[in-house]
Amino acid sequence: MKILVINAGSSSLKYQLYDMSNESVLAKGRVERIGMDSSILVHQPKNGEEVSQVSEILEHTTAIRKVLKILTHKEHGVIESTQEIEAVGHRVVHGGESFKGSVVVDQEVKTKIRRLFALAPLHNPAAMLGIEAAEKNMPGVPQVVVFDTAFHQTMSEKAYLYPIPKVLYKKHHVRRYGAHGTSHEYVSRIAADFLKRPVEELKMITCHIGNGASLAAIQNGISVDTSMGLTPLEGLMMGTRSGDIDPAIVPYVMNKEELTINEVDSMLNKHSGLLAISGISSDMREITEGMIAGYPNATLAFEMYEYRLRKYIGSYAAAMNGVDVIVFTAGVGENSIILRERVLTNLTYLGVELDKEANSVISGEPRRISAPNSKVEVLVVPTNEELVIARDTHRLVQNLIRNV
Ligand code: ADP
Repeated sequence: MKILVINAGSSSLKYQLYDMSNESVLAKGRVERIGMDSSILVHQPKNGEEVSQVSEILEHTTAIRKVLKILTHKEHGVIESTQEIEAVGHRVVHGGESFKGSVVVDQEVKTKIRRLFALAPLHNPAAMLGIEAAEKNMPGVPQVVVFDTAFHQTMSEKAYLYPIPKVLYKKHHVRRYGAHGTSHEYVSRIAADFLKRPVEELKMITCHIGNGASLAAIQNGISVDTSMGLTPLEGLMMGTRSGDIDPAIVPYVMNKEELTINEVDSMLNKHSGLLAISGISSDMREITEGMIAGYPNATLAFEMYEYRLRKYIGSYAAAMNGVDVIVFTAGVGENSIILRERVLTNLTYLGVELDKEANSVISGEPRRISAPNSKVEVLVVPTNEELVIARDTHRLVQNLIRNV
């Protein structure tokens, strides 16, 4: 079965075409600047050269039409006909309390996703554009939605409620939902397989650290806590996001600086984190280079980032009364040798012993970076959110076929 995985943003759309017979990626690419002048489609076939095409793409329906066209292109294509695509899987950021797992799209599912627009105003409407565009271009082809929040729906009330008036939860669904659920679930399963131990017997802390960053505490295979909240702003310090701050800063700064709600929201989401402290970049590579070059603000940004991450790991070990496995994943987690080293050499009280040599290896495979005598296993596991979407889509569509 061939499955198209789509991750739609408001002005962009990423895609991967999977052959599920061997879970290989036949082609991947992205459309950028949808709705702007000179939109660009970048397409990478499995065994071919990357191609880019600049044209006017005013909306998502056209974007998907162009993607289908290039997937079937004589020279750059990887399939003969779009009929070969038997299902489409979509990434949706917010599933609220309505979705505890992936589902096949129908009218009711679309209505529920629309009701959640208010909780993810930037992301969910964009995902809906992607779903409707795929439906228009591929009528009758089953569509599946996979939610970033679903894995964390197992959190208990004590973990997901905020200590604020409960009416806000009842009326406006204000609670913690988390994000990166597909990644946390995926790397926890790969880690358990790697260790040849049942995930149900392990206390794990998974650290998904990329541009956005979150931690999950996973006990008996389910998420018991995670660092992102109502929105992906809570928790760790990130590239451009503040993470946890005193909420009283918001009214105080709004008052002092005469900021609007949108301005303060933009300050915390787009102009904070590594970028704000370093003054140079939100990218961990540039922060690390700045630190090595002796730039004090880059050093401070790195130290704050590491300190806040380490405190979260400690708090999740406390939440679970121990930790058996720590997993690092995503851009920073998979690649920053120095960040992992700084974090792990300060977790000796938990029984973490780092294998410095193993930590320095660069590889795209799951690997152990803790020493043989370490009480806590520490692994680096490359994440693959698209594969999770493809697998869930495959499973649900096969059930659909069986039940017809
Ligand atoms: P996203 O959250 O957008 O999916 P990624 O998981 O791709 O992000 O992570 C992107 C981040 O990974 C970049 O901001 C960069 O700082 C970081 N990164 C990538 N390679 C390295 C590296 N070699 N060393 C340190 N950081 C890296």
